[in-house]
Formats: sequence, structure tokens, C-alpha cells
Amino acid sequence: MNMNPMNHLTKRTTLGLFAIALGSGLCAQKTMKTATVAADAGKDYQTVVDAAYTKYKDLKEGKNADYIPALAQVPSDLFGVSLVTVDGKQYHKGDVDSPVSIQSISKVFALARVIEDEGPKAVQDKVGVDATGEVFNSITAVERMRGKEINPCVNPGAIATTSLVRGKTYEEKWNAIIGIHSDMAGRPLQVNQPVYESEAATNQRNQAIAHLLLAYERMYWDPVKSTDLYTKQCAINVGSRDLGIMAATLANGGVNPVTGKRVVSPETVEHVLAVMATAGLYDDSGIWLYNTGLPGKSGVGGGLIAVCPGKFGIAVVSPPLDAAGNSVKGQRVIYDVVNELKANPYLVQPKVPAVKK
Ligand code: GLN
Repeated sequence: MNMNPMNHLTKRTTLGLFAIALGSGLCAQKTMKTATVAADAGKDYQTVVDAAYTKYKDLKEGKNADYIPALAQVPSDLFGVSLVTVDGKQYHKGDVDSPVSIQSISKVFALARVIEDEGPKAVQDKVGVDATGEVFNSITAVERMRGKEINPCVNPGAIATTSLVRGKTYEEKWNAIIGIHSDMAGRPLQVNQPVYESEAATNQRNQAIAHLLLAYERMYWDPVKSTDLYTKQCAINVGSRDLGIMAATLANGGVNPVTGKRVVSPETVEHVLAVMATAGLYDDSGIWLYNTGLPGKSGVGGGLIAVCPGKFGIAVVSPPLDAAGNSVKGQRVIYDVVNELKANPYLVQPKVPAVKK
């Protein structure tokens, strides 16, 4: 697979190649006028990424998460933006290889593992797929619904989902979890040990959630070990480059567009993206969807991904968060990029022209 956009400097003008180069025709009007089609498409994506990066680089809003002590130590000015297309082209800007802990974004990949292995019905019946509309670590949401209808993108649903990961032992389950994360990223990922230890020492609230779920018979493995597995998955280190490739793997129906490896099936991805759309940014998921139309997922480490199905994945790393726990710069950058690329799937140009009356 050719990953260097400059190698695409060929004089082709057919609309078909054009669409492939642009990830199904984004920005088509802008690039139509030149002969160096795919290279211009590359420039367009890079230009849009660079512009959003520059616009928000010095924004000082938001604050690192500090309820996990180690997260308060991460440099607040870390800032990386990565866009990866379904044909494996990559557009990066900033600190794209500086790792942060993946945190809640791991919920997406643990969910993908469980849907792939147990089927979508298992998650719908045993966890739930409705948005709670509450903060990500809400206990009242669990209590109100007596453990039912809790979304895999918020902590209770995520811990229940992790408890469903296949494997008889902690090690087998962990291998399944780290395996899917690494395959999605296309390289072996590692755990950030200080972050893991820091959260493991302070995660009494998540332990309480796991025990409350157990009381309602909605935990499917040992609650203490499941919470620990979940805590460890949240401490997996990723840069925006990794997250961009992981998001692009979802955009590409479960095949990593850089390595070519099939990680999960397109049918698994379709359910994962739907869950992300309902609660990927917790209680601000409605605002997010209103502005992007894309399934997204944030983490309190400062990562944020969005998936434009069949086109591209985009990721931002920037630790300062807003009150809902979502990266401030991450949201601004992705709003801008989606808008510039007209990538909101709900934005449709009519196929049949309006009839003049
Ligand atoms: N590990 C974090 C927690 O459980 C993840 C939360 C998040 O990223 N929103 O609290």
C-alpha cells in the first residue's frame, strides 16, 4: 500500500480516481481544477489539519483531569492532530508521537472485542446501549435503572463490557484487550505504569460501580478484577498518530488501512459507531453530534477521536478538558476540520435539483 501522497503526482483527472484519492470525493470542487489530483487532495487534508492546529495552538481554556493524580502531571501544552484516510494516507501536525493514556477511548475497543466475540445482542441485553445522559462515572444512573440500560461508553457500561471480554483468566482477558488495541493502532501498545498505578490507588468509585452492578446481576466476571482490567486498559499509552489510525480502522470497516490487517468485521464496527454516537462524549454527546454528525469518543487523558465512515478517522491529543471531561482543543479542531471538509454525513447535497416553481 502506498502511503506517500507525493507518489500520487500523476496526471489523472477521471472522477473515479479522484473519488478514491479524496476518500469518496471530499473537497471535490476545490481540487477539480488541477491535473495533479491526488497530491492536491493530500495538500487539502494537510492544509485543513495545519490550519486548525495553528488556530487553536495557543488556546488556554480547560484543565487537565486531576482526579487521577498522574494525569495532572501531563504537560498541558501537548497538542497533536492526526487524520488518516481509509486508503492509509496520513496527515499529522504537532506532538503526534507524544503518548497520553487512552482512558475512555479504550471503551470503544473493548466494546469492539466483545461485539466481535459475543455478538451485538449480548451487549444490548447484558449491558445496554441507551445513553444515560449523565456524567461518565455516574452512580445514580446505575441505581435509577437498576443496572440496566447503561451505555458501554460510560464507566458502568464499560466495566460491565470489560467483564464480558473472553478468557478464563486475567491474563487471557488482558491479552484480548491489549491485542485489539494494538491491532487497531498497527503496533504493539504499552501500558503507562505510573498512570495505571495512580488510578488503581484511587478508583474506589469505579469499584463501587462494579459492586453495584454485581448486586443487580449485571457484572459478568469478578468485580474487583474486572475493575482492575478496565483501569489497566485505560492506561494504555497512545499518541494522536495511534489514535488516528485506530479511528481510521473503524472508518474502514474494521480493516487497519495502514497494516491491512482485518481487526473486526464491518458488522461489529456498525454497532460500535452507533454506541459512540449515543454517548461517546458523555452528557455532551448531543452537542457533539449536533456539530459534527460523527461518532466520536473522548478520554480524560486528553485524547479525542472521530470517525467519518468510509472516509477517514481523525484524532486530537490535548489534555485540558472542559467540565464534561472532553478535550477542549480536541472538540474545536474536529468541529473545524469536519466543517472545512464538509464531512458531516447528514450534510447532503440534493441529487435531484429543486424544481423552479
Ligand atoms: N479511567 C477513567 C475513569 O474510569 C476513564 C474516564 C474517562 O476517560 N472519561 O474514570
